Amino acid sequence: MTTHLLVAPPATGKTQACLEHLRAALGERPFAPAWVLVPDKTQADQMRTRLAGTGTVLAAHVATFSDLHLEILEKAGRVLPMAGSVMLHRLLQEVIHGLGQAGMMTYYGGISALPGFLLEIQSRIGELKRALVTPERLAQAAQSGTYPGLVELARIYAAYQSRLQELNWADEEGLSWLAQAALKDDKTLLADLAILIVDGFDSFTPAQLNTLQALAGRAAETWITLPGTPDMQRPAHRRFRPVLEALRTGGETALETLAGPPHLPPTLRHLEAGLFETTLQTAPNGSDLALIEARSPVEEAREALRWIKARIVRDQVPLAGCGVALPELETYRSPLQAAANEFGLPLRFSQGALLAATPAAAALSDLLGLALNDFPRRALLDTIRSPYFDPASASLQREDARLLEIASRYGQVVQGLAQWEETLNLLASQNQDQEAAAEIAGEEESGVPRLPVGAEAARLLAGLRTLAGRLAPPDGELPLKEWVRWLAELLQDLGFYKCLAGEAGLVVTYDRMLMALAGSEALTGPVPVRYAGFLKEWQGLEAAAWVLDDERDAPPAVRVMGLMEARGVRLEALAVLDLAEGAFPAVERADPFLPEDVRQALGMQTRFGQEQAGLFYQVVTRPDRFLLLTRPYLAKGGESWEPSPYWNAVLERLTLKADRIRPEDTRPLNEAASPEELLFWSSRRQSQAGLEPPQALVGPLAARWKHIAETRPILEARLQKEAGGAYDGSLAGINQELGQRYGSRSRWSASRLESYATCPFFFLASSALGLEVIEPPQLGYQANQLGSLLHAVLEHVYQEAPDPTDTVDVLARLPGVAGHIFEQAPQEYHFRPSLLWDVQQEELLKILQKTIQGIADFDPNGGWRPLAFELQFGLGDSPPLVMSMGILLHGLVDRVDVTPQGLLRIIDYKSGSSHLAPQDLINGRRLQLPIYALAAEQALQRGSAVEGFYWTLFQGKVSPLKLSTFECELGTGPQAAFDLAESHVKTIVGLIRQGAFEPVPPQGGCPEYCPAAAWCWHFTPGRS
Ligand code: SF4
Repeated sequence: MTTHLLVAPPATGKTQACLEHLRAALGERPFAPAWVLVPDKTQADQMRTRLAGTGTVLAAHVATFSDLHLEILEKAGRVLPMAGSVMLHRLLQEVIHGLGQAGMMTYYGGISALPGFLLEIQSRIGELKRALVTPERLAQAAQSGTYPGLVELARIYAAYQSRLQELNWADEEGLSWLAQAALKDDKTLLADLAILIVDGFDSFTPAQLNTLQALAGRAAETWITLPGTPDMQRPAHRRFRPVLEALRTGGETALETLAGPPHLPPTLRHLEAGLFETTLQTAPNGSDLALIEARSPVEEAREALRWIKARIVRDQVPLAGCGVALPELETYRSPLQAAANEFGLPLRFSQGALLAATPAAAALSDLLGLALNDFPRRALLDTIRSPYFDPASASLQREDARLLEIASRYGQVVQGLAQWEETLNLLASQNQDQEAAAEIAGEEESGVPRLPVGAEAARLLAGLRTLAGRLAPPDGELPLKEWVRWLAELLQDLGFYKCLAGEAGLVVTYDRMLMALAGSEALTGPVPVRYAGFLKEWQGLEAAAWVLDDERDAPPAVRVMGLMEARGVRLEALAVLDLAEGAFPAVERADPFLPEDVRQALGMQTRFGQEQAGLFYQVVTRPDRFLLLTRPYLAKGGESWEPSPYWNAVLERLTLKADRIRPEDTRPLNEAASPEELLFWSSRRQSQAGLEPPQALVGPLAARWKHIAETRPILEARLQKEAGGAYDGSLAGINQELGQRYGSRSRWSASRLESYATCPFFFLASSALGLEVIEPPQLGYQANQLGSLLHAVLEHVYQEAPDPTDTVDVLARLPGVAGHIFEQAPQEYHFRPSLLWDVQQEELLKILQKTIQGIADFDPNGGWRPLAFELQFGLGDSPPLVMSMGILLHGLVDRVDVTPQGLLRIIDYKSGSSHLAPQDLINGRRLQLPIYALAAEQALQRGSAVEGFYWTLFQGKVSPLKLSTFECELGTGPQAAFDLAESHVKTIVGLIRQGAFEPVPPQGGCPEYCPAAAWCWHFTPGRS
């Protein structure tokens, strides 16, 4: 029987015509089967809605080709179990592994275990099958040897196919082959069809064409629709020309068309008629077509959803009648979702997010890796505080992560249960004293987490032990089925599914993955693996999976889909995004697995010449009422981004320009799509006019306005060149309190004063507020611990020597003294030695030798002999150094030497070597030497300090700044240094008392240990 090919431009009523034929056919034979084939689920849903809307009951199967193939096989009694994507992934993995073991994967050997390779191969096998290319044909094509990779692809394909056949399973494409074979063998199959309608396609795979040809003549009527015109002469129709030719070669066909114009609004009708035509006929565009240029994809997504909301509110377009179409979904997923949340628009994506990119997958990955990686600190804490797990089954709470974090810093826990045990046991033993002391002191619970001790530490330890026990995988090799059981129980125990409430798609996805993985051994046979192997398997599956949509009782929403999905649906309002050069049309690239000439020879679709213009033509003719086209005009780097040639092709047909949205532009308030936006736009308008926002707006949005009002002066402060004001370091408003806090009884160290001179805001953050940069625990010593350690060795070795000027003797004693201090160092200075500790001790010993020898060599005449080490002033019982204005100073002088005449020399050891020049004393950043010299004079009462320098331990050198040679505006030598230091101290303390803490980034950049660096907007990167 004749197959009717109904070819007509979009929106001319092809589907309607088919429904009329369906109604007529079923009117004659009400109980005969009728099928309507559509490309995908989205279109199937739309077709069902349309059938329901005809007002009569039309008993037709609305289905995809896959549904039809299954029906044929059921009727023929040849149904095979169909393997899902997870099972096929596993099967392919086994096949590739087997070929690799047999030495048959030399070309792809290096990458064959990667999840990405597996996905590519899985997709190529699907493509080959849809193109009806058998493994034998591919092997033949590979015989020339031109492409070594092709030989291996053919091997994989053959092994995969034979394994599937051995097991008597099928993949989706295989079902089409089997269905065609069944149709060939049994001419009576589906011979009772009253009508077959094939609608919404713009192309067919060879397998689909085969099915249509096999069915031709069985249905009393067959109607196939195609966009275009019977001659397919227009450039916009070029994409459909080969499809029509292929349909006409299969048997007796009648080519029909529809005469009427497309049922499109005026501008879109004009666009449809002229798109890609060479004769230019421009027309004014009406409200049915809009073009928007936005700065970035984020703003583009916002503008598109704002436009959709306007269509819903102003033009009464139903939610389900709105859609967004994009060339590439993932770039726009987050911006669209964020804008939709703000605008109160529900969205439904045609494809879920990549599972591996979801926070739940990241949390699960951390959890499953814990036991394997010996419980790394960060991942363990993240797991306990994760919203995806409930640690109650281990008698822990999420808040315990904070306590454990504090404990981990105390005990320098880096990794491993042993370190947790050691630390928490130690803290548990501190129970009695600390708790009792707290009680005696009448301390109240502050609510701020503090170091857990006693019973609390013991509880945490017990919880960690339980959790670790639960996470410990069974020993040895287990079949995947057993691993899946173990994992399912673990997830149940940790409340994973309960915590996923509200993310139904993830629950469905994980459920199916677990079931499919357990079932995959039905294909491959039992695969006993160790835990690491199972984990790799699981992560490979996660990397390849997409979050499934749980559509049960799904409420209406704006549909977000790819361009291919959009081409067959009809909507009332559609926004097409990302019409930028390189995005659409997509850049066509050769396929590294199946080169172009091979594709041509095998009758497959080629990667070049895909006629994307035809796809654009179809997409822009989807909406019945409104179309929006958008593009980003700036690329990521800030340079301008050219529009797509299709964008230009549309503009050529219109007399109006695209609407370019600049963030700084004043927008009409009636375009605001959310209360936040309304308030923001309104406030900006008013402030530009020097006015407060209207009360009518502020009233209902008082909380939001209060927030904006509070943030305004902060933002204004940020825009000033010079730092200043209450939001930028000035605490002048509390100078009285500061005057008290830093009054005459305060004691100052040189380093605190130096930190103010480095940057006043740095002082405020570190010294006044007591903030510090919290570094995660790490193996080995930290810089400050190393400094203390070296200082201690030098102090003790000189003190132990009967004659500290006898360098030979001091050096001889050094290994013994250092060895003893090194041995105690991890406990004394609270660090966890790394594996390099032994080597580091040798290196440190050399540094110390060099220091002792270097200082001795610096005094060849032997005039100086050590007088004091770690000399205190203003600490303990020792009196402070008193400077002008009664400022009290305290500190610890590393070393004081003396001459026979009683003259003093100050030495200060430094681990670093920066900022040790005379200029650093001149600008106040280094004050130690003169202050220490004055303190030593006062404390020792032996004579004047005539010399002083820093000794750089790692360079083994004297600093450029020396008291004896110092010069400044006030004079030369030590006295000039003393006078200058005194003047700095007076100025700094005065400014601190006045509350002057405006940030001034130091020359050479801010120190990396500045605690304000995380939020200070004056931060200037540089050397520390
Ligand atoms: S980041 Fe720089 S400018 Fe800001 S407080 Fe720290 S040192 Fe000063």
